[in-house]
Amino acid sequence: MSVEIPTVTLNNGVQMPILGFGVFQVPAEETERVVSDALAAGYRHLDTASAYGNEEAVGRAIKASGIPRDQLFVTTKLWIQRGGEDGTKRAFDTSLQLLGLDHLDLYLIHQPLGDYYASWRAMQELHQQGAVRAIGVSNFYPDRLVDLIEHNEIVPAVNQIETHPFFQRAGYQQLMTERGVQIESWGPLAEGKNDIFTNPVLTEIGQAHGKSVAQVALRWLTQRGVVVIPKSTRPERMAENLDVFDFTLSDDEMTQIATLETGASVAFDHHDPAMVSWLNGRAND
Ligand code: NDP
Repeated sequence: MSVEIPTVTLNNGVQMPILGFGVFQVPAEETERVVSDALAAGYRHLDTASAYGNEEAVGRAIKASGIPRDQLFVTTKLWIQRGGEDGTKRAFDTSLQLLGLDHLDLYLIHQPLGDYYASWRAMQELHQQGAVRAIGVSNFYPDRLVDLIEHNEIVPAVNQIETHPFFQRAGYQQLMTERGVQIESWGPLAEGKNDIFTNPVLTEIGQAHGKSVAQVALRWLTQRGVVVIPKSTRPERMAENLDVFDFTLSDDEMTQIATLETGASVAFDHHDPAMVSWLNGRAND
């Protein structure tokens, strides 16, 4: 199936599909089937990570699909490294090998933790060698992002951060735009939390367009220029989440959704020392 998915242009000219498919918390043994279904539904942009433990299964699904490499956009992420520049290069090679690819489209630093300045220097080199078309970061709060930009040669192409109707990141999006960094949402459906799928505001707006709550949330994000990577293991929801480009939310509807902002994460507090230690405890090298 062929679905026309709009793209955004990153700060180095690379085109990135504004809607992709995420595989966080998809068990490795289920991932090949899930990604095969997503590719069959029309997704061409895949988001995985070393920490998800399912890169190899994503790679098998890519290979089995027979889809030409240049029609795919594949992202993976570097977990918190102890090995500095060398460790980052080794981690990149391992991810590439597991995915069965000869280059990546986007490589992200997964967390602003550990020796990530060394990782960024290694990633700049990988990019300059042509092994990865764009490099970026994830979970960087504004102070960390600005500091990374001001001490390095390459400005991250993307910052993948939690963004959804309850945690909207509008001010931060503006800062990123000024700095040339594309915002990408993780958890675009708030991971199903805060009763999002029965939220009265989103439900009513959906009814007006003949669309589901998930479709309203994804449309609202993409209409703001935010890249989204919803995850679902179910083919009918994969198709539903792709079908968001045939309607437009009015200014009034966008304003109504803006009132849902809580200013808080539904998942992680990156400023909580206990959370930082927990994440660091999951370090791999
Ligand atoms: P999402 O916001 O995408 O929500 C996924 C949940 O919503 C699942 O429980 C899924 O259930 C359900 N769902 C999906 N579509 C629908 C639908 N149409 N109707 C009803 N329920 C639906 O959460 P994720 O955390 O998965 O975020 C998306 C992606 O972002 C991840 O897969 C990952 O790639 C990335 N991510 C990155 C992080 C980072 O630190 N950089 C952190 C977290 C995520 P079901 O599968 O049963 O359909």
